[in-house]
Amino acid sequence: MREAFKEAMSRFAAGVTVVFAGERGMTASAFFSLSLDPPLVALGVSERARLLPALLEADRFTVSLLREGQEGVADHFAGRASGVGFSPGQALLEGEPPRVKGALAALVCRLEAHYPGGDHRIVVGRVEEVHLGEMGPPLAYFHRAYRRLC
Ligand code: FAD
Repeated sequence: MREAFKEAMSRFAAGVTVVFAGERGMTASAFFSLSLDPPLVALGVSERARLLPALLEADRFTVSLLREGQEGVADHFAGRASGVGFSPGQALLEGEPPRVKGALAALVCRLEAHYPGGDHRIVVGRVEEVHLGEMGPPLAYFHRAYRRLC
């Protein structure tokens, strides 16, 4: 059951985000738009993630929606070594908290609520600012690998 569940969920294509709270960033694909009025988004964050305490204590957090070609950024904030050179100075827009430079879009959120979700925590953010980058294809994650749409 466990392996079949993991295999099934790996077949669900997702976008890739980097979430920042305070100084900490983390790659997350368990992200969705929850409500339009009020504007809410939801994230699934591992109870073991170092980001989680920062997220629950921070005044605001950001969610950057990655574009095609940002695999190196995603790997870095997932704690994975990647062949792609990564420099936080080049990849991040300074701010409190930072956003990923060149992302398709970024949301600045205030923590609205959080709920237990097994070994993850469901974190709900109220969107306070929307930053739109240049339109383009997204970075996607499907069957345990980054994918390009076309
Ligand atoms: P840490 O291991 O503490 O940090 C991650 C990496 O980011 C480390 O290398 C750290 O040095 C670096 N870093 C952090 N802040 C900065 C900074 N300011 N400047 C420079 N480097 C910094 N996990 C989930 O809980 N939910 C998900 O939805 C989810 N989706 C994922 C999707 C994909 C495609 C991938 C690859 C991973 C996903 N993960 C998800 C796993 C998650 O990204 C990793 O397990 C992550 O390492 C755990 O977060 P942490 O806060 O403990 O990270």
